Amino acid sequence: MGTLRFKALDELNRRLPSKVTLSDKKVSEYFGIDVFGKAQMRQYLSKDVYESVIEAIETGQRIDRKIANQVAEGMKVWAIERGATHYTHWFQPLNDSTAEKHDAFLEPDLHGDSFEAFKGDLLVQQEPDASSFPSGGLRNTFEARGYSAWDPSSPAFIMDRTLCIPSIFIAYTGVALDFKTPLLKSMAALDKAAVEVCQLFDKDVTKVVPTLGWEQEYFLVDEALYNARPDLVQTGRTLMGHTAAKDQQLEDHYWAAIPERVSNFMKEFEERAYRLGIPLKTRHNEVAPNQFECAPLFEEANIAVDHNTLLMSIMRRVAGKHKLKVLFHEKPFAGVNGSGKHCNWSLATDTGVNLLAPGKTPKSNMQFLAFFVSTLKAANEYGTLLMASIASETNSHRLGGNEAPPSIMSVFTGATMNDMLDSIEKRISQQKLTPDEKTEIKLDIGKIPEILLDNTDRNRTSPFAFTGNRFEFRAAGSSSNCAMPILVLNTVVADKLVEFKDEVDKLTEKGVKKDEAILQVIRKFIIDSKNIRFEGNGYSNEWLKEAAERGLKSINSVPMAFKEYITPANMALFNRHKVLNDTELYARYEIKNETYLKKVQIESRIINDLAGNHIIPIAIKYQNFLIENVKGIKDIFPSEVEELAGEEMNTIRTIINHVNAIRSASDLMLSKRKKWNRVENIPERALGYENEVVPLMTEIRKHIDALEMIIDDQLWPLPKYRELLAAL
Ligand code: ADP
Ligand code: MG
Repeated sequence: MGTLRFKALDELNRRLPSKVTLSDKKVSEYFGIDVFGKAQMRQYLSKDVYESVIEAIETGQRIDRKIANQVAEGMKVWAIERGATHYTHWFQPLNDSTAEKHDAFLEPDLHGDSFEAFKGDLLVQQEPDASSFPSGGLRNTFEARGYSAWDPSSPAFIMDRTLCIPSIFIAYTGVALDFKTPLLKSMAALDKAAVEVCQLFDKDVTKVVPTLGWEQEYFLVDEALYNARPDLVQTGRTLMGHTAAKDQQLEDHYWAAIPERVSNFMKEFEERAYRLGIPLKTRHNEVAPNQFECAPLFEEANIAVDHNTLLMSIMRRVAGKHKLKVLFHEKPFAGVNGSGKHCNWSLATDTGVNLLAPGKTPKSNMQFLAFFVSTLKAANEYGTLLMASIASETNSHRLGGNEAPPSIMSVFTGATMNDMLDSIEKRISQQKLTPDEKTEIKLDIGKIPEILLDNTDRNRTSPFAFTGNRFEFRAAGSSSNCAMPILVLNTVVADKLVEFKDEVDKLTEKGVKKDEAILQVIRKFIIDSKNIRFEGNGYSNEWLKEAAERGLKSINSVPMAFKEYITPANMALFNRHKVLNDTELYARYEIKNETYLKKVQIESRIINDLAGNHIIPIAIKYQNFLIENVKGIKDIFPSEVEELAGEEMNTIRTIINHVNAIRSASDLMLSKRKKWNRVENIPERALGYENEVVPLMTEIRKHIDALEMIIDDQLWPLPKYRELLAAL
């Protein structure tokens, strides 16, 4: 059989187990060895220069040119000693991947000799002429260039003999064209607001940073089989394929022993990650067959995002060496679990306190509550914006459906916190607290840590759950750049912290004592955010009903979700905190819709192609085979044909019906695409695609999957689910 499928299966059988050579050193001996971190800076920079860089990192200020030259020199010497030949600004354009353009260090001088040049201005700023990145109309190709500029808060590193300099990416006009710029701005806004609130409790706090620990889920498939599936190759997911008889129903994959080939792959990418200072901590099998997860220790959010995007590219590279393909798509296979990127988020002070962890004293618990209720209130007021921040074409296939959070924001606080919030709400009256009441409340608040430790049951059905010392935003998609949800989260929480502080100030100005003012505002925030708290099963239909009654908006349409970026209230929010201006928000709105639309368009074209060129011809071939058979039966048993071949004739009829259904849905889909392509307005077109093209893809798939169950296995052209998801 000459089809790609059988060639792939054949190749797969003959393949030897993958080999891997790993360092025999202890991880601690090479952790961060490829990073120009503090230790390296101390060694390669003078004391003054080193201190200026550290100050720039801590205050977020620019580095002046003279210092930059010296940093560049030190960085260059370090990199060349480590074998680097090229350097690049490494940045995150608005397309869920990273970008780099390499330049050699080598530069000939006037006398024809060559030397290794890399000056401060090249470190600080580059002009990649990157006119082909998504810009949402911000930067016409003929009109202006994009610049990348060094982000000193994320250390440079060497990958593939290239010095990579983490950078922001902005248009000539100063408008941000990337994820990192607004992320850094949101961190500054959050820092400012959080420090002010901390100051109510502890004067020593001068800096607060968001911390992020992501959990990256992914699938692995054999490379040969992957290559035999044009849909996987071109869209990252299977657009057709009947579910395997056995997939995840026996729950025998989750946390099971990791197959050798996979563990070789993991060990190898982990080693590379360690060299780059990525603190990977856990690895395990996930629920679906061939699904896995890895997670690092949490880090400051900006670094964590860089490390996540960096790790994804390392994993793609290393997978190739093991003849594997890593799938970061949120839903590569229908019928089995999809992949997310849970974002564990908290706030850390420069005094070493986790602001979302209960403390040991009533005072530190008051501080914890202040941050806790501000986060709740943020989720309540900006729930749809938060859900919009994780909306994408690929994630839309995963959300809902009893395996991932529903597309409605709610917050799970856990029984302990839930009771605590209720009791504060009931106990504190609007009037002045009696001394007794105050003592009681404080006693209550003081008790949080003990109870919490054994009571943080996990509610896996919640999109945003408190897990004892952090919030876990579980709706984020596996393929996305998690800077987006994190920058939105930072901004909305910053906004509520400002409000918290303002309300406390208002009360103290009226003569209310600080302690009591804080308690009153905590209570107010609890009442204001009651609507968003939900402890029950987020997968249940009852919840969908209840959420609707509560007026919580469900994000069922991706293009509609994107509208959140341009509502007056949300634009005002981003402006207020100087995270994104109107132009930048409109650009993102445009880009997100365009990306959505293009992805659907590509999927729809591939379905048309596969249906027409792969599936229908095979269906007809098999149909003819049956027809021949029936004719033969008729020849031999002319009078009994109805009785003997009746079932087979029904099968022929079924095949014909499916083929006809596929044909007409394909034709209709093509005409729908044409219709919507004539619509100039991109968001409108995206919505048209969602409403009229997507349902036809589902329809076509249904018939193809039915045919897969009927047609001779020896004829079927595409690797089946049971083959793609077979043990590695
Ligand atoms: P689970 O799968 O049970 O949710 P994991 O161990 O897979 O937990 O991942 C938990 C993640 O939460 C890790 O990345 C961890 O570093 C992170 N985390 C723990 N504490 C914090 C914190 N204070 N801030 C941010 N992330 C945190
Ligand atoms: Mg986990």
